[in-house]
Parts: sequence; structure tokens; C-alpha cells
Amino acid sequence: MSLPSALTPSKSSVTPDPTTRAIAYFSMEIALSQALPTYSGGLGMLAGDTLRSAADTSASMVAISLVHRRGYFRQKLSDIGQQTEADVPWSPETTLPSANKVISLTMQGRQILVCAWRFDVIGVTGHIIPVYLLDTDVEGNDPWDRRLTDHLYGGDTYYRLCQETVLGLGGVALLHALGCKPDVYHMNEGHAALLALALLEDQLHGKPLSEATEADIEAVRKQCVFTTHTPVPAGHDQFGLDQMYQVLGHDLGAAIERSGCLHNNLMNMTYIALRFSRFVNGVAMQHGKVSQQMFPDYTVYSITNGVHAGTWVSAYFQELLDSEVPHWRTDNQYFRSVYGIEPARIAACHNKGKLRLFSTIAKRSGHHFNPNVLTLGFARRVATYKRASLLLHDPARLVAIAEKIGGLQILYAGKAHPADNAGKGLIRDVYASAAKLNSSALKIYYVENYDWELGALLTQGVDVWVNTPRRPYEASGTSGMKAALNGVPSLSILDGWWIEGCAENTTGWAIEDGEDEAAEAASLYDKLENSIAPMYANPHAWSRMQQHCIAINGSFFNTHRMLAQYFGNAYYPAAPLTIEPITEHRRSTDAVTAQPALV
Ligand SMILES: *Cc1c(COP(=O)(O)O)cnc(C)c1O
Repeated sequence: MSLPSALTPSKSSVTPDPTTRAIAYFSMEIALSQALPTYSGGLGMLAGDTLRSAADTSASMVAISLVHRRGYFRQKLSDIGQQTEADVPWSPETTLPSANKVISLTMQGRQILVCAWRFDVIGVTGHIIPVYLLDTDVEGNDPWDRRLTDHLYGGDTYYRLCQETVLGLGGVALLHALGCKPDVYHMNEGHAALLALALLEDQLHGKPLSEATEADIEAVRKQCVFTTHTPVPAGHDQFGLDQMYQVLGHDLGAAIERSGCLHNNLMNMTYIALRFSRFVNGVAMQHGKVSQQMFPDYTVYSITNGVHAGTWVSAYFQELLDSEVPHWRTDNQYFRSVYGIEPARIAACHNKGKLRLFSTIAKRSGHHFNPNVLTLGFARRVATYKRASLLLHDPARLVAIAEKIGGLQILYAGKAHPADNAGKGLIRDVYASAAKLNSSALKIYYVENYDWELGALLTQGVDVWVNTPRRPYEASGTSGMKAALNGVPSLSILDGWWIEGCAENTTGWAIEDGEDEAAEAASLYDKLENSIAPMYANPHAWSRMQQHCIAINGSFFNTHRMLAQYFGNAYYPAAPLTIEPITEHRRSTDAVTAQPALV
């Protein structure tokens, strides 16, 4: 696979100097370019957007991930919505410069060599964030070990633990080999938590780990920051102690046990990260609060996620902003000044995005959509708690609304994890409903292979972005932020970021809490019929709303603001934060009790 030349980082004339970088950002997945399959979804997008903002704002960062030579997967959907998966192989050798370092780790009782490839994230002023992608496909390694950095979220728990060992221990070893001595190590999710054990080994200067004291652990904590990303219990990796000892060996395993990182007698990556970090945060205000209840022995802060505006704003809006809002690319606070732009010009930009989305779908599938008809978008990882089918809960009512308001179009997209048979069933369910309901008034279509490109097309092209998670499982959600930056309001359950982003009838609409799914679906239909459709029928009111979305939500829910908060509150806090009870955000306290079935 080859990269478009504009994205070919090796062509960059300057080689970034990692030795000067102060913040090391570790993430199992990072969405680096549309052409590289090194991400699966929201976590990787957030990581990529964070680094793109770091590059634009000249932050002193370096990042570590794995190369994922066979990617996550390409989704194919049959006529009835049966998902099959295909690998997305790519060759780092012919795509990226080598880091020219090979480091050696001991795991599974044997040596493993790890090399790395460098991807340069280049900011608007030319500042570069080097990203090192670790790769175990090195001659001399055990053949099984050579495949360890092939599949993102592939394999069993043993494979996963080996990958997380390469990420954490290998990442720190590589940074040392490169002469990089960061002030701060940021674990983006628990996958990277073993980096703390590598730092503990450093701290001991050759003394055995068994001699580590509380002061040594404190010295490691001073260097580490941890972001937790999900209140879904199954989202927190844990491993049996036998696996832990098998992969990490006696000394590291015993150090993990001794430092109090086990949970329910399992090795738990979240608890390792908690134990070894001086700052822990959730990814939206409510998620911080829910995480605080899950981990009462630790102090949990909140830094609400964002998206990288330069990545997600459509080309049409970029052109408008470049002429009317100078400096928006380096300082996203200027988004506020779209209030100085005629709403009709904003509506015109959005309309171009809608036409581009529909022409792409027509080219790919032969399905034609009407640009004059209200169009809803729903795209996300298929998991039961996301409730893709809430929108289809009462088909008769949905059809009646579509007939009454002059037509309705709904676009779906999303991948189920290859091992998630329940998730795959949900895709077939949407297909079955669509087959029954498609009529002249209502058109429902599931677009194949939700990825970066399709995510951009959808969030730039639909009229309303819909999100229907079961509370409080949506930690943040970021696709609705991409939509907002493109003047697209959300219709969503008040969960994750939407608790902070929803100004009713101004930036979108809240689906009211109900006793059960039927009640929540009824609220969704009420808003659609009585609030959304009438406003859509009034172009001036609608364009004002598009303007509010960009001015109010675009100026806040971006990674420039998020990263500034990481620098000011987490990496280099000006004053120690004091933990106060997080204020109520319209919600009573939501304890996480149920354990939804998902991968
Ligand atoms: C933005 C994005 C996500 C994350 O969005 P959520 O709102 O968290 O679901 C996932 N996948 C792709 C392809 C994206 O672009």
C-alpha cells in the first residue's frame, strides 16, 4: 500500500529530535492517516487527534504504539447484513522510515527483539510529533513472536498480554535507546500500564524489583498520567496470574502482586495504571464521576475529550473559515467568531457536504438519497449498550412520522468486533428492519466499513447525528463533536459528552430518560416529530442552529482545548488540583451495576 504523497512523512525535510521531548504518549491504537489501518475506532481516533493538536500547537511530545501490520479489519456486509472481515495488510518497510533501533525484551522466558517505524505527525506550522510504531517482526525472533504486532485487538488474552508487554516495556526501552527522557508518561487507556513497571526498574538502577520501596513507587507515580476510557467493566483488561507469570516472568509478576495492583486476584491493567499514576482522569465530566465511584480509593478527575478540527471540518467549511476566521487552525477558540458569518453561508457549506456524502454512497452502492430530505446519521462501534435499534423501536410510528414530515432518510454504519456474535446479530437486525420499512417516505441504509473516511463523510453530510447509548456507558463519544464542528446538531441520550454539549433547541436535542426502551424511543420520536422536523422546515432557523453548533460546541469540544487542559491540569499542574465532589450534571449518581454483554 502506498500513501498519498502529502501524507508521506519520510519526505519531511527535518528529522524530529526525540531527545528533547517532555511528554511520552502511549496508546495501543493511533489513527495516523486514512491510509494506515493502525486504529479500530474512538480510542485510536482520539489518540491521533491529540497528536495532531500537539503538532499544531507545537507541544513537546513523542508517541508510542504498535505497528499492526495486518490492521484491524475491513468490514464486508452481505445482502442480509452478515459481517465478514478481511485483513488490511500494509508494509511499514515501504511506507515509513525506520527508527534505526532494535531493542531486546525478555518475555515468555525468552528474548524478543523489537524494532520501530517512525510516523511524523506534522502540524500546520511544521512542528513534528514523532510516533514510533513498535514491530516484533524481526529476524531471529521466535516465529510466533514475529506475529505479535500484526492484529489490533486480535487473538486471545495471552496474545493481548504479550502485545501490552511490548507496548509498555518495549516503548520505554525504545525511548531510552533514542535518548529520550520524558518528564511525563501518559497512558492512554490501561493497555500501556506496564510502562510503569519499566520505570520502576529504572528507578532501582539495577537492584532487584523485590527491593522496591513505597518511595520508589512514588517516584514512578510522579512521572505518570492515566486516562481511563470506559465505564463498561469488560472494557478493562484483566489476566490470570498464571498468564501474568508466564509472560512477564517471576520478578515482574511478583512486583505487580506486591505493589497491590491485583483486582479480584487477577492482573488488572486499570489497577496497575491507577496505582502508578499521580493523575487519573475520565474523558467527560460524568465519566470522571462514574469512574470515581468505580475506583473509590483513587482520585479521578475529568478532562472532556475533543476532536481535531483541522481533521474533521469539511473542506467546504475549511475554505470558509480560512477566509473569515484567521488562525482557527492554531487556536480553536476562534470558532466562537462564526457568529460573525451569515448563517446562509454556513448552510450552503453543509449542503455541499450532504451532496458529497450522497454522491459517494451512490457511487459505492447505487443507492440514491434525496438532498432535500431530512437525513439522520447513526454510526458507531456495534455494541449492545449503544442500542443501534432504538431508532427502529416502533416501526409504525417511525413510518407515520416520515410520511407526515415529507420524508426521512437514515444512514447507519458501524463494525462489530470479529468475535462479537451478538454485535453481528444487531447489524442483521438493522438490515431486516430496513428491508421491511423502506418505502417512498422512509429510506434506511447501512453503509459498509465504517472508518475514518466514512466517519468524516457522514458527520459532514447528515442533518442530525443520533446517539442512543444506555446510560452511563458512553464515556464520552466523539463523533457527535465532529458533527457539531460541521454544523450538525445531535439528537442524543444525555450521556457522555452530550450532557455538557446539549443546549436544547440550540445545539440539538436530548432524548429524555425513560423507564424503559419504549419510553426513550417515544421521546426520540416526539423530538423528531415536534421539534426537529418543524425546525428543518424553516431554513433560517435551521441555519442558525448550525451556527450555534459550531460556535458553542466547536469552540470547546476540540483537542486543542483538551490538550491545553492536559498540560495545565495533568502534565504540569500550576497548582495541585483539589478534588471536590464533581458537580451534578443534571444526573443523579449512576452506579455501574449491570454488566452488558460485549467484547
Ligand atoms: C470518531 C470515530 C469514532 C468514535 O466515535 P464515537 O462517537 O465514540 O462512536 C469511531 N470510529 C470512527 C471511524 C470515527 O471516525
